[in-house]
Amino acid sequence: MFHAGRLAEEVQNSFTRMYTSIRRFGSYYNNAPTRLLEKGIHQQGSVGVVVIADDTKVKSLSQGIQKLSTHLNTCAPKDIWTVAVFENPSYYAHFSPLRPSYADVFDKYKVNDVMSRIVARERLDHTYQEFYGCNIRVTEPYTEKHSGERIRTIYFPVHNKQSLEALVAVDIKDSFINSIIQKYNAKYKTVLNGDSEHNVYHQSSRLPCSDGQYFAVGIHYMDTLKKSVFPALIIAILVQLTRAAIRRHERSIKHDEMTGFYRRDFYEPKLKRLRNFSLLIIDIDHFKQINDSFGHRKGDEVIREGASLIQSLIRSGDIAIRWGGEEFIVLFNNMNQHYLQEKAECIRAAFAEQKTAGLNVTVSIGGVFSTDSTFAKCYKAADTALYESKHRGRNRATIA
Ligand code: GH3
Ligand code: MG
Ligand code: MG
Repeated sequence: MFHAGRLAEEVQNSFTRMYTSIRRFGSYYNNAPTRLLEKGIHQQGSVGVVVIADDTKVKSLSQGIQKLSTHLNTCAPKDIWTVAVFENPSYYAHFSPLRPSYADVFDKYKVNDVMSRIVARERLDHTYQEFYGCNIRVTEPYTEKHSGERIRTIYFPVHNKQSLEALVAVDIKDSFINSIIQKYNAKYKTVLNGDSEHNVYHQSSRLPCSDGQYFAVGIHYMDTLKKSVFPALIIAILVQLTRAAIRRHERSIKHDEMTGFYRRDFYEPKLKRLRNFSLLIIDIDHFKQINDSFGHRKGDEVIREGASLIQSLIRSGDIAIRWGGEEFIVLFNNMNQHYLQEKAECIRAAFAEQKTAGLNVTVSIGGVFSTDSTFAKCYKAADTALYESKHRGRNRATIA
């Protein structure tokens, strides 16, 4: 809405800037010298002069008209269609550029016909009396007969000693307002348009020196969506993807990829700070033989399935660590010695009673329950218990 207001002002200012340079032409006109020209068409630079009677006193306006055109082109690049100066009475007229149709049409006009019609229609006959207000008129858009171009005309009457000497007519393309809007959009990255009907928001502003003509500047809801929601959506998706990537990265630092258990190098430093332990070391029996007989990949499968079986038998608050290749440590929270024994037995039995990756796989377990001791001491005791389980024939659980 802020931009719509600003853009509307910019449109008005663009018109006013053109009016100012057209008005300046008045004093140039009044001081221009005259010379005699024959009936016909006289091309002077980019300006064509159409003279309809022999020995006509013609004002030399070509240079001034070229300057005016140049200046208008800086206000409305590519949107100035024609700059013309009609004399009163109409024995001749200047056109820049002179299109063939202008010469034909002007030639057929009776003296004064063009002028009187325009001046009467646009109520420009006594504008010199208006000290303030508009001594200029801009018409509504219309289609030029021969070219088919949609244009509006800005008329400025040149008075001298209360009589109308000439009429300056500047044709600008109807697309001019749209050009200003597009330029504004490019500059401020907005999506405003000149539509007054289909917009979710628009504001109407008066065209300066027009007879109650308004132009609209507004915004379509689809453009608003494209401009705001879609980019926001893309950013949101990117943020989510980045977050997921960071989470994956964090997880790969903490967790072993094969089993999903904590990595030993990540968790071991934390164990040194703990004092109370209720832990089990679980080691797969004769794992080397599994590798040797069924291959390394089968071995991997046994590790993966074995780990997931252990995970299914412990609580979510318990901590499982992949300590070595086929050796795991589980730390239990709030578990007394009796339950630790039961838990160890339950894990051992689970392996013994079902196949792991299609194979008969057993585990040996060593455990320790201790309050107020270091991890090193507890680990040693549990490892000794594990050794005992192995020594006594494997597929056993021993709690120190
Ligand atoms: P024990 O009953 O005394 O525990 O015998 P074991 O064969 O299980 O013991 P050992 O520690 O001698 O063998 C473990 C083997 O596990 C040695 C190693 O090659 C293998 N291993 C270690 N990590 C992996 C792994 O990620 N995948 C596979 N397939 N094998 C592994
Ligand atoms: Mg083993
Ligand atoms: Mg081992």
